[in-house]
Amino acid sequence: MKRVLVTGGAGFLGSHLIDRLLAGGHEVLCLDNFFTGSKDNIRHCLHDDHFELIRHDIVQPILLEVDWIFNLACPASPVHYQYNPVKTIKTSVMGTINMLGMAKRVRARILQASTSEVYGDPQVHPQPEQYWGHVNPIGPRSCYDEGKRAAETLVMDYHRQNGVDTRIARIFNTYGPRMAADDGRVISNFVVQALRGEQLTIYGDGSQTRSFCYVTDLVDGLIRLMDRDREYEPVNLGNPNEFTILELAKEVRRQIGSRVEIVFRELPLDDPQQRRPAIDRARDILGWEPTVQLQDGLAKTIQYFARALSGDLPDFEKVEDV
Ligand code: NAD
Ligand code: UDP
Repeated sequence: MKRVLVTGGAGFLGSHLIDRLLAGGHEVLCLDNFFTGSKDNIRHCLHDDHFELIRHDIVQPILLEVDWIFNLACPASPVHYQYNPVKTIKTSVMGTINMLGMAKRVRARILQASTSEVYGDPQVHPQPEQYWGHVNPIGPRSCYDEGKRAAETLVMDYHRQNGVDTRIARIFNTYGPRMAADDGRVISNFVVQALRGEQLTIYGDGSQTRSFCYVTDLVDGLIRLMDRDREYEPVNLGNPNEFTILELAKEVRRQIGSRVEIVFRELPLDDPQQRRPAIDRARDILGWEPTVQLQDGLAKTIQYFARALSGDLPDFEKVEDV
């Protein structure tokens, strides 16, 4: 049993990770500033003796005695990370320094939640870990992309210089229950729009691609990576099945049985044209690969949002078994 700190624990991924950690018998400290996270995501944990909630911003230092740190704190949706870009990069740089400093002092193992955005608008397809990426350093996505790249640099330097026991997970687009209805990312947008009978808004012509990973698969990969000794180099975690955004919109509409219109809006600057993870490394070293097909994960997500929008959610939604 470990004492585990999850920063960003009240967010989408963090709250699912916490469920898995508690189920595994670990003690969990959830740290969050509630910028995009919500108490609703972790309310069901509050009565658990193995769970503690700390309202804190990782840009400020903090010292806690823990064995493992999952550093997930950072807004992940373009809408939210562009709301206060300076704060976003501070979270990735100063926040990650604070978490690495803590890991160094208490000799904790730390996993950094990195992102496929470190590959930018990739010119290599699919993207293997060896690819250095194609990132605009001064555009509207840079606060996030370059923040996460700097965070990776810090992680590797704390490892090489100070011997900190580090892990880097490069997470590709992940979706599922507990995404906020106003999150702004594509799956929650389309599902919420279709359920409300509103038009589905495609940015650009919908030919850009993404590869969507269901949240339970992703959490499984994170825990496997954390569990593995001496795995310091970055590991891609994502589902290699690739879809165009137009295909996604049609699938959401089909599953909801909705006749809503699909409309096309301006493509945001620097929006990556294609994205698919090469997951050979995760397969080899972690024995991991996603098991949930988009169709099935979408069905769960639609079910969740249908209940959330009608105000009919229990304290929490169990989503382990898809
Ligand atoms: P999310 O927005 O739901 O969760 C982020 C959480 O971090 C929220 O609870 C938010 O309140 C908290 N937070 C933000 N800034 C903070 C700060 N300064 N101090 C303390 N807490 C702070 O997003 P998510 O999808 O759960 O993403 C979690 C992590 O995974 C992020 O680091 C994100 O970059 C990374 N990631 C996610 C995806 C994905 O598709 N979901 C893909 C790549 C990387
Ligand atoms: N997108 C879209 N409509 C929306 C939200 C997003 O067409 O309502 C597009 C977006 O432009 C991008 C893709 O869907 O090409 C994925 O966007 P998201 O914000 O989910 O993730 P990211 O771009 O960070 O991969």
